[in-house]
Order: sequence, then C-alpha cells, then structure tokens
Amino acid sequence: MHRATRRRLTLATALVAATTAAVAVTTSAGAFDSKEQARKAIQGGQAKNVILLIGDGMGDSEITLARDYTVGAGGRLNMDRFPLTGAYTTYAVHADGSPDYVTDSAASGTGWATGVKTVNGRISKTPGTDKPVRTLLELAQRNGYATGDVTTAELTDATPAVLAAHATDRSCQGPADMAKCPSDTIAAGGPGSIAEQEVGHQVDVLLGGGRQRFDQTITEGKYKGRTVTQQARELGYQVVTDDASLKAAEAGRPVLGLFAPGNVPTEWTGKAAAVGGTAPQRCVTANPNRPATTPSLADSAATAIRLLEAKQRANHSKKGFFLQVEGASIDKQDHAADPCGQIGETAAFDRAVKVARDYAATHPDTLVVTTADHGHTSQIVPLEATPPGLSATLVTDEGGQLKVNYSTNTPGQSQEHTGTEVRIAAQGPLAYRVLGVTDQTDLFTTVREALRLR
Ligand SMILES: [Zn+2]
Repeated sequence: MHRATRRRLTLATALVAATTAAVAVTTSAGAFDSKEQARKAIQGGQAKNVILLIGDGMGDSEITLARDYTVGAGGRLNMDRFPLTGAYTTYAVHADGSPDYVTDSAASGTGWATGVKTVNGRISKTPGTDKPVRTLLELAQRNGYATGDVTTAELTDATPAVLAAHATDRSCQGPADMAKCPSDTIAAGGPGSIAEQEVGHQVDVLLGGGRQRFDQTITEGKYKGRTVTQQARELGYQVVTDDASLKAAEAGRPVLGLFAPGNVPTEWTGKAAAVGGTAPQRCVTANPNRPATTPSLADSAATAIRLLEAKQRANHSKKGFFLQVEGASIDKQDHAADPCGQIGETAAFDRAVKVARDYAATHPDTLVVTTADHGHTSQIVPLEATPPGLSATLVTDEGGQLKVNYSTNTPGQSQEHTGTEVRIAAQGPLAYRVLGVTDQTDLFTTVREALRLR
C-alpha cells in the first residue's frame, strides 16, 4: 500500500471512529443536534461564512463555572453543544523563537489570525524581526468576503486588533498611545495606531468599546488634526453608540460601533473574591454601571451577521463573510478575581454562541468555531478547602454552593493567565480539523482553507 493511500485510510478510520464516538454522546445530555451535522462537519467542503467566537481567558474552569452556576452541573451551555470538540495549545514564543509557555491575548491572537507565533504583546508582527504578517481578515477582504470584528473590550484591544492591525506593542491603541511603537508611526512610514489601522482597513462592521481611543486627534499624515472617529466618517463609516442606533444601521455602508469610552461594562456584578473567602453570595444579574442602552454581545453578533449578509446580497456576491466575536471580559474579571463579573460575561458570550449556531442551523455552509485564546486563573475547589490567595463562595441557580479560588498571583496583584491547553469546538465545513490536540496556529489554516483564501 502506498504511504499516501494508507494515510488517507487511517484518516478515514479515525474520522469514522470520531463520528461513532460523537454519536454515542448524543444519548446523554443532548450534546449536539444531529448525526447529520457531525457527518457534514467530517465531510469537509467549502464554507460560505466563518463565525469565530473567542472567549478571552475562557479555559475549561471558566466554562465549568458558568455551567455550574447558570444551567447546573448536569446542564449544557450552548458552547457545549457543538458536534466536534478538541483541545489546542496556546504558547507564545520569545524573540529567538523558543517557547514562552504562557501567552497573552496579543501573541495568542497573532497565532490564530496569522498562523505565526509571536512574542507577548505584539499584534500580527513577527517575533524577532517585527515585520507585519497578513491576517485572516486581510485575506478574507482580498478574496471578496465581507468582514466583521466584534468585542466587549475596547475595539483596539488585542483580540480585535490582531485581525485588522499590525503593531510592535498592543498598547499603541490610539494616536496618543504610540510610545512603544516608534516604527509604526505614520511619521516613520508606518501604518499608525491600531484605531487608525482598523478604520483604514475598511472592516465592514467594527463593534465594541474604546470610544476614547477613536476620539484622540491624529497628529501625522493625511488625517492630521482630525480624530479617528472623523477619519472613519470620511471613509464612509456610520458611527453608532448605543443599541437603538446599532439596530438602525443601514446595510451598504461600514459601521463603527463604540458603546463605551473604555471596555463595555460587564453584565453582572457581585463581591470580588477575598483572602480567606466570602460569605455565600448570589450574583447580581444587572450592573448599575451598565447603561440600559448598551447592546449585548449577542445583539452585536446578530446585527453584524445581518449587515454582513446584506452587503454581500447587495453586491450579488457568492462569497459570504468572516466574523470574529470576542467575549473579552471573561479574562478581565478573572484578572480582577470577580467571579460574578466573570460568569456573567461567560453567559453573555454563550448567548452570542447561540446566535451563531442558530444562524448556522439555517445556513449549514457556515463554519462556526468557539474557542479561547488562553487559560486563566479561576479554579473550582472543595468547600472545605482553605486555599491561599483569593476565594469566594457562590450559591448557584440550582441551589448548591460553589467555591472559587484565584491564586495565580499575590492578592492585590492582577491574577494571571495560565499556560494550559484550551477547548476548541466547531460545526460546519472542515470542523473536523479541531479534533484531537492541535495548536492555535492550526486554526488559521482551518479558516483559510474553509474559505479557500488565496
Ligand atoms: Zn488577560
């Protein structure tokens, strides 16, 4: 037998085994909708659309916490219902290419957005030479797809930035923030700040926080003296700032949604974890600091899909869209050891996953991938444990008590990312590529091949 033939047969056997295993799971907990969905995923084919959902810092502990608290230990979240699930590794690299075992969102995002690993803090540029690497969004645009980038962080934060910007350091978010990116300034012949690059890229839909970055004044180049928001308007953007104006956005012109001066406020609040623990608490499922006019991540995702679809329809394009949707503050509340904030954001992200899966149910030529960019600090520990660091006890919706511990850093310091592998789950064309243990740079190849990006 030729080696190539044997390899094909081995792959076919592995995929049949995977289907059988996956089908077996449907009988417990309703892990996914149909055998047909799994078969289609395994058969491969070309995708018309890709929706990539990134839970920032959403390791298995963060998923389990949200599941336990909201739907119960025996329940299933929307993100638990994908037909195919694997694990992927997330490490960054040092400038010499050797592994840096704990990544940040910039290096991680550069990995999945470009297929190239880089140093922590860098946005879609190489680790040693600091050269720009083309991204999935840039490739999608070049190949005629509509593109969208949605987040609950500032739009210029690392995860949305890696798709539509190249910067030596993630801090170079607005024209006044360029201290760490001397070679990226327009004066030095570079592309300018992340905010300027995002609107300059003419991404069709940009939704998130970070209004203050876009309100900064550009100091160099063609738009000198204008703010980035004014630059966006001159480039044809509709600028929206709340739920009503977002819903009223017209298809046919790009949309820049800026829903908060900084990060979009969290959905839930509660008492942060403390040294020695907290009294048992229920989370407050409303945040007085979050204006009622703020769109949810699910609403932003649904509107983005509507606008991207409408653009392609108006252009009579056979190509669909590439959309990234980030639940950013899972990570930020993990850093802050705030379990209620964290769980509320995971649940909000999960509702955005449902929007994507509902769309794919009627558009099966859509590849939907849900994953994280790195693991994080929160751990579910026994009630009787007295762990070091910060702890909190929660009373779940099903009435149980749950103890969460945060001790990846000294109390008072920001809690840290971890270097663990994370879940990746998918449905639709080429979804089988998430099976097994892969690296996050493989996600770049999966999306590129699903959309046949050249
Ligand atoms: Zn983080």
